[in-house]
Amino acid sequence: MGIINADLIVCGGGTAGLPAALAAARAGASVAVIEEDASLGGATADQYIQMFCGRPYQGILLELKEKTRSFAPTVRDNTFRSSAALLAYQEFFRGLPVTFHTRQRIVKVELNCSSIVAVESDTERFEGKAFIDATGDGSVAALAGIPFRFGREAASEFDEEFAPPAADRKIQRCTLMYTVKRLPDAPDADTRGIVLLDEDEGLIWGPSVVCGDTTDPSLLAKAQEEAFAMMPAEVERWRARGFFVSSVAPKIGVRESRRIAGLYTLSYHDIADQRVHPDSVCVVNYNIDPWDPDGNPMHDNRLKSTHMPDYEIPYRCMVNDKVDNLIVTGRCVSATHVAQSSLRVIGVVIPLGQAAGNAAYLAVRDGKAARDINAQELRDMQRKGGVRVSLAE
Ligand SMILES: Cc1cc2nc3c(=O)[nH]c(=O)nc-3n(C[C@H](O)[C@H](O)[C@H](O)COP(=O)(O)OP(=O)(O)OC[C@H]3O[C@@H](n4cnc5c(N)ncnc54)[C@H](O)[C@@H]3O)c2cc1C
Repeated sequence: MGIINADLIVCGGGTAGLPAALAAARAGASVAVIEEDASLGGATADQYIQMFCGRPYQGILLELKEKTRSFAPTVRDNTFRSSAALLAYQEFFRGLPVTFHTRQRIVKVELNCSSIVAVESDTERFEGKAFIDATGDGSVAALAGIPFRFGREAASEFDEEFAPPAADRKIQRCTLMYTVKRLPDAPDADTRGIVLLDEDEGLIWGPSVVCGDTTDPSLLAKAQEEAFAMMPAEVERWRARGFFVSSVAPKIGVRESRRIAGLYTLSYHDIADQRVHPDSVCVVNYNIDPWDPDGNPMHDNRLKSTHMPDYEIPYRCMVNDKVDNLIVTGRCVSATHVAQSSLRVIGVVIPLGQAAGNAAYLAVRDGKAARDINAQELRDMQRKGGVRVSLAE
């Protein structure tokens, strides 16, 4: 088994993992990024998520938006091409002390007391001082024994009026994304309902299916099969409108799985009431957008049209009281099902990734547990990196 050593090990080279690695490396840490797939990029690459939801464009998110546009200039304002994002990151990482290890699925976490010593794939061992779980599913945190939430909280637990009366294990539906393009003999075909990437081609939120447990590979494979089985009808539907299906995402899109139990759980009222947190790492904005597990458009249609105000996300959502040197980022940070339906989008996940990278740098530099770093210094690093950290600013 080969041994790779770095200050920081980033587990998952996806939407949050790449900005985390970039922020830490820019600050001066050596970084190893581990990715189970053949390609980096995560959901933006293999689930075809190519639209920036969440505002404002800030920090690494803004850099990415501008750089992707320079690679694919015909793209519409809030969209990007997956390949352009990969090319952008390749430029961002040039000259920085970062190594990438694709086709390495983390299957084991080795702990010494309350610290992670190493994570392992079947063939490699990765040793570091700090670790970031950017797997989307909180897989490393789960392997390290950190408790997590799964499914919907009861409305009473966090006073969330849109949550169900009793807690359950239901999660948001999975969706197979695809693209459609105008047929050559239908230059005027109507593009309504398509998120256009450029003049002729756009994104479609395709078949949406229920998956009882998105951390179970066989259930997820079944969900994907079920969604793919609906594609012939989609092909016909679009042909009748003057389009052809130009590509289908290789993986079904997963909105939700584990959410780690952190020191703080972000809930609906943190967002709606604009709660202020002294350790806030970013100010963001996006609707509450839960894709109902039972197939209804929303838990409550009021949510769909309710625009949320700007809100703060505290660093405590990314750290826990069990493992000293692990920071969690991406869609699996500590939040309720309702709050996660807002923070899961790219425009939130990227500033959260940036925060994880900066925090890990501070933890390594100061030899501190991730939960004990100086939150004010972290906020300063975020600010310097172009991220708004306080509603008061
Ligand atoms: C259908 C759908 C549509 C969406 N539409 C939009 C949209 O239009 N705009 C928007 O902003 N957001 C959208 N989102 C949400 C957003 O794209 C995702 O929530 C976000 O990209 C997740 O980022 P992440 O870094 O947490 O996870 P990911 O980007 O999935 O990254 C996780 C990475 O970790 C890797 N990994 C996992 N386990 C392991 C392991 N054990 N070992 C090694 N590597 C591992 C994965 O392969 C992956 O590369 C959508 C989501 C879905 C499902």
